[in-house]
Amino acid sequence: RFLYVNAAAEALTGYAREELLGMEPWTVVHPDHRELVRERGLARLRGEEVPTGYEVRIVRKGGEQRWVELTAGLVVHHGEPAALGTAFDVTQRKRTEEALRDSEERYRTLFEESRDAIYMSTLSGEVIDANQAAFDLFGYAPEELVGGNVGDLYLHDADRQRFRDEILRTGFVRDYELRLRCKDGTVIDALLSATLRRDRQGRPAGFQGIIHDITERKRVEEQLAYGALHDALTGLPNRALFVDRLQGAIERVRRERESAFAVLFLDLDRFKVVNDSLGHGVGDEMLVAIAHRLQAVLRAGDTVARFGGDEFVVLLDDVTSAVEATHVAERILDTLAAPFALERHEVFTSASMGIAVSTTGQEGSEELLRNADAALSRAKALGKNRYEVFDRQMHAAAMERLRMETDLRRALERGEFTLRFQPIVALATGRVCGFEALARWEHPGRGLVLPGVFVPVAEETGLVLPLGRWVVEEACRQLGRWQDTLDGGEGLTVSVNLSARQFSQPDLARHLGRTLAGCGVDPARFRLEITESVILEHAEPALSLLEELRALGVGLCMDDFGTGYSSLGYLHRLHLDQLKIDRSFVSRMHRDGRSAQLVQAILALARNLGVQVVAEGVELPEQLRALRELGCEYGQGYLFSHPLPAPAAEALVARAPRW
Ligand code: C2E
Ligand code: CA
Ligand code: CA
Repeated sequence: RFLYVNAAAEALTGYAREELLGMEPWTVVHPDHRELVRERGLARLRGEEVPTGYEVRIVRKGGEQRWVELTAGLVVHHGEPAALGTAFDVTQRKRTEEALRDSEERYRTLFEESRDAIYMSTLSGEVIDANQAAFDLFGYAPEELVGGNVGDLYLHDADRQRFRDEILRTGFVRDYELRLRCKDGTVIDALLSATLRRDRQGRPAGFQGIIHDITERKRVEEQLAYGALHDALTGLPNRALFVDRLQGAIERVRRERESAFAVLFLDLDRFKVVNDSLGHGVGDEMLVAIAHRLQAVLRAGDTVARFGGDEFVVLLDDVTSAVEATHVAERILDTLAAPFALERHEVFTSASMGIAVSTTGQEGSEELLRNADAALSRAKALGKNRYEVFDRQMHAAAMERLRMETDLRRALERGEFTLRFQPIVALATGRVCGFEALARWEHPGRGLVLPGVFVPVAEETGLVLPLGRWVVEEACRQLGRWQDTLDGGEGLTVSVNLSARQFSQPDLARHLGRTLAGCGVDPARFRLEITESVILEHAEPALSLLEELRALGVGLCMDDFGTGYSSLGYLHRLHLDQLKIDRSFVSRMHRDGRSAQLVQAILALARNLGVQVVAEGVELPEQLRALRELGCEYGQGYLFSHPLPAPAAEALVARAPRW
């Protein structure tokens, strides 16, 4: 029983002194510990050795529990042995300890389960602890990693020094990007965040770090960066990277007076034909093979890039002169001349090239590319499978072209285009039976510009589309007017030329149908002239478009026959109703027996296929006579008339000449 209690005992237990005196001490002890306290108390009284100072819970009056640290010893009280004990309230400390244990457990879980590698090291870098992710990441067994030094294990010395200094200065590093070694020698990219650990006295004791593996992310980023600068098909640099290298070459030549470089623009001749006839798979295979050949004939310092399609561009980084560049161009022509043994086909190709050389670095990269491109155009115009070097004259031509482009844009809005009409004569009767509409540009400064000059520019800029629409509309209007008001105009036909680009418009047939209906023109009196290349270049879509046009009821004529592929099979497949023998045959036929034979053969074949023939470029009476003898149906040319403005064409019809 309690013999004596102090005021603190009253406060601790919640009982008044009177209540406590007479109570057995263990009655205030929590039932869980009661037996223990009793045992120890009795043991001590028996004189046995018992540990002093242990923690138990007590239950206060009212039920609240507290932790106390008990110490007890034996004393003699009024001649009797008695226990003298103190109970020290340690509840607060206990709670803190529990909370700590709790949070320790929680953090332990985070540590163990984290996908990021976590480690703790001493100041000198010895690893004290690390988690499973760390073992996995670096490929070390726990006993290899823990106890080892980060410098020997995975961190490069320079990095280690840097990041150590940084942490000692600021207390932490966050997302420090670096490369780490694994046990097997592979290198990974990682983000390291670390903090300084301090001991109880607040002195730096070590580091704890967390390592996030970003190897995969870096790989994707690098791939994206590579993709932004390289052509996906061939792996060659793309335009962006090429321009970058070109910029470098320009700067170098500006610095070093002695050196020079060249840009070589290369375009395959007739690649489209390969693509369209053998399929894109074969086309791609070929582009890859060409990329390899180009790389093989160039030096390491040169750059070959693909700008898309079949356009390759080469930067010859260190040539002394244009002549040296042309030697490279010759090597390229040679290497491309050998057949390409592709998976299922053997294919031949050739290329045209334009070369621009810079000795001063004064030209900008865009200008150099433009110059090389201008030289390329010239090489193509001169017959392909060759190269041309850019010169001042081409520069003038290029400038001229640029100016023409600007003017051409305005010409449509300002209504500067007109049509000329060249009569087509039925050779059997010698009478005009129709006209070919030919576009002219009445340029305010240059006078009358011929289509040979502006159509290629219009093609390239896409202006040929609105221009072509206008030609169709204007020709329909004219034909409608003649049909209604012109004496002898009832049976006339009008032909209009279509260029390649116009053929890629999906609504061509619809537009034509609407226009014809709007002008009240019989579609059978309207004819479209197309060239073979137009059809070959567009292959499948062209076939369905021709189908639509035929369904509309308009006539279809193959222009310039004999200059392209001259495939009579096409004539048949496309159900064309006319072909126009190119004027190069007509102009030679009275002098050159082979041309005459050719014309004769074409006429015979056409007759078999049910196709009518128009001979163009008839200039001399003997040509007319010969064509008549061969049974050619129609003729067109200066012998009959030059292309005429509409009123003059009307006057001609009214006069009704007969050849
Ligand atoms: P094309 O379709 O072969 O037109 C015939 C060209 O030969 C015309 O030249 C015509 O003036 C010319 N010509 C006619 N008779 C003779 C002759 O007896 N001897 C000679 N040496 N030449 C003759 P033009 O008008 O300069 O047209 C050239 C080309 O421009 C045309 O060739 C055609 O392909 C194209 N073209 C003309 N108008 C248009 C158009 O409205 N749209 C499109 N897309 N192309 C057009
Ligand atoms: Ca024509
Ligand atoms: Ca023609």
